[in-house]
Amino acid sequence: MNTENISEKKEEQSEAKQLKEKLFIKKKNGAAKLDKKETERADEFCEEYKKFLDLAKTEREAVAYTVESAKKAGFTEYDRTKAYAAGDRVYVNNRNKAIMLAVIGKNGTKNGVRLGIAHIDSPRIDLKPNPLYESNSLAMFKTHYYGGIKKYQWPTVPLALHGVVALKNGTVVDVNIGEDENDPCFVITDLLPHLANEQMNQTMVKAFNGEHLNVLVGSRPFNDDEESENVKLNVMNILFEKYGIVESDFLSADLAMVPAFKARDLGFDRSMIGSYGHDDRVCAYPALMAILDTDVPEKTVITVLTDREEIGSDGNTGMKSTFMADFIADLAQADGMELRHVMAQSTCLSADVNAAFDPTYASAFEANNACFINNGAVITKYTGSGGKYSTSDASAEYMAEIRQILDDADVLWQTGELGKVDGGGGGTIAKFVANLNADVVDLGVPVLSMHAPFEVVSKIDVYETYRALLEFYNAVK
Ligand code: MN
Ligand code: MN
Repeated sequence: MNTENISEKKEEQSEAKQLKEKLFIKKKNGAAKLDKKETERADEFCEEYKKFLDLAKTEREAVAYTVESAKKAGFTEYDRTKAYAAGDRVYVNNRNKAIMLAVIGKNGTKNGVRLGIAHIDSPRIDLKPNPLYESNSLAMFKTHYYGGIKKYQWPTVPLALHGVVALKNGTVVDVNIGEDENDPCFVITDLLPHLANEQMNQTMVKAFNGEHLNVLVGSRPFNDDEESENVKLNVMNILFEKYGIVESDFLSADLAMVPAFKARDLGFDRSMIGSYGHDDRVCAYPALMAILDTDVPEKTVITVLTDREEIGSDGNTGMKSTFMADFIADLAQADGMELRHVMAQSTCLSADVNAAFDPTYASAFEANNACFINNGAVITKYTGSGGKYSTSDASAEYMAEIRQILDDADVLWQTGELGKVDGGGGGTIAKFVANLNADVVDLGVPVLSMHAPFEVVSKIDVYETYRALLEFYNAVK
């Protein structure tokens, strides 16, 4: 081959390269595409996110954090008898377990609202209504797990007790034990390997069932009286002295065990964060920051931080409740509109996580349609399972609208499907919003080890999810 032929060959390659550039989706580690400044902004954004993770491990704590941040940013409690103008900032607290923040737009609700909805409940170990018992001189709590967990992951993890006890006299006592390094913590025990022959030969489902998730909470008896249940008595006495509660007060309590450790940077390069409860605080925090950073939008924008998602959204603080529609109806009425006409023109980003591709478990994914750590906010057109059951599927037209908004603002984003077809499945709140006759698609952060006590996300993906929500809220169309 002479030199002429070689240069022709080179030209051919470059033509193919050009055509690929024009026609193909560009796939590579998105972190490499970002300039250094943007990466620094992502790292900085996540410093406060880590504090939020540590302060807001339950939905009640997330609502408390949100109310405080909202007030500082000029939000006031919504009053439906008041008239609001463009740029006004209001919030509605639903039973301290869910919250909505709105910034009134120039057009109010007249051509729909923009919704960003994330959930602030996470899988955890709830206490049963009658939890405390003594067995063989150990004091234990009976529990009923909340949400979809792999039960074997929760024993031998240090746990903290969070929640409230409501007394009959109307006082509500806040409980938080195990977060301060001087606090004691709690643990679900597991069998030593030496004696686990029988356990190890069982399937995971049988080896760790719900009634195995008993939490060790004490071992020292009250005194040497011959009385039975002296260890339980000692624990109850400590609780009485600290919180003024007696055993029957457990009946009117929302108490849960959550991992006691704090959010940490992960990896030599500190590119990721390991923590309990990324799902879905990793979208709730960006959705909160995006509305705090919204000034006067075209349409009224609303961030909803909801409860109950992990158990199917039932209940008065979950997305199957009417609380959000009722609020939008009030805003609509003030504009002389009907709720149904507002909803029909409304758009929503259901801000929830997706499963990041895990090379160790590659066979659970279909790599062409999986989302990856560091490739930015992930758009999930549909979730569900077994032939798209139980999901809203965002329309082609709405997908195009969102692509346009994100690309115009140079947001780093990717698409993702939840695992391979028929590999399992799951859902988000998207379908409940779609059922109100709004356009909705899922957008959020890829997560490794989802629903485990220690989940992993990328800092860049958290920041790009914030940017996506901010651009969506401030879109003019
Ligand atoms: Mn979620
Ligand atoms: Mn979840």
